[in-house]
Amino acid sequence: MNREGFLKALDSLNVWKRGGVRAPHKPLLLLLTLGRLSRDENRLVRYEEVEARMRRLLERFGPPRKATHPEFPFWHLQTDGLWEIPDADKLHKRKGGSSVSASMLRKLGVLGGLPNSVDQLLRRDPELIETAVVTLLNGHFPDSFHTSIRDAVGLSESMALETPAAYTAARRRKRDPNFRRAVLTAYERRCAICDFDIRLDDDLLGLDAAHIQWHAYGGPDRVPNGLALCKLHHHALDRGAIGLARAGSRGFELLVSQEISGTSEAFRELVDAKGRALREPQEPSQQPDSVFVAWHRREVFRGEPRTA
Ligand SMILES: [Zn+2]
Repeated sequence: MNREGFLKALDSLNVWKRGGVRAPHKPLLLLLTLGRLSRDENRLVRYEEVEARMRRLLERFGPPRKATHPEFPFWHLQTDGLWEIPDADKLHKRKGGSSVSASMLRKLGVLGGLPNSVDQLLRRDPELIETAVVTLLNGHFPDSFHTSIRDAVGLSESMALETPAAYTAARRRKRDPNFRRAVLTAYERRCAICDFDIRLDDDLLGLDAAHIQWHAYGGPDRVPNGLALCKLHHHALDRGAIGLARAGSRGFELLVSQEISGTSEAFRELVDAKGRALREPQEPSQQPDSVFVAWHRREVFRGEPRTA
């Protein structure tokens, strides 16, 4: 596989997203692998050696699910041409028609890794590693995840020696330039949760137009999929620490996850805000759409909401 083929294969991972259902398994295995590669570790790795780390990555950055299945990408990434299991044929015979289980991968000490051609390509070209990292992060996670995921797989941003051209291009995804203005106007330029609205001259400091259903998962650039939020509440929404629930006929109230912890005053304030009504936008037609709110609750919100 050459450079173009590799980038195309990464892009097709981005396209395959079964109607907005989050399945970050393959991107996370690739990111973990790129981290290993940037530390010059061996191409092939035993399933058992990455299983615990993959599980933890899926728990932290994947959708809320009962089972994480770290074995899925280790086997299925082969079909994307981005993974190789030298003993795949032997395993095929052994498993019959059924899929490969984690215990089988463990018991047989199965090795897997990037195909040799891709591995060579990346080891020769650190800039391509960074391009791949940015493509995977942008394709599957909002910005609020990027630093935490990089840290978790050992691919800190400072490791990119200079900004590759592809990096800048990949960051500038196709977004409607009017989205931010329309959302901030609808909410009168303050956070819909805490009213945060600090200005310096004419600039708003730390106020974002947040997507409820992530842009990376088909969430549209329309006001009913947006909320004006301060940086803290934007980050907390993206990571599923907070969410929304319908309250009454029109409005929404704030959900706060049982999973968050802290001791600061800011933490107390966030917990005390649970059940609080969100600021309503100027027009009823600008209210968050229940479809996007339901997506966030299903795919992003972590654990159960606090009631006390
Ligand atoms: Zn806020």
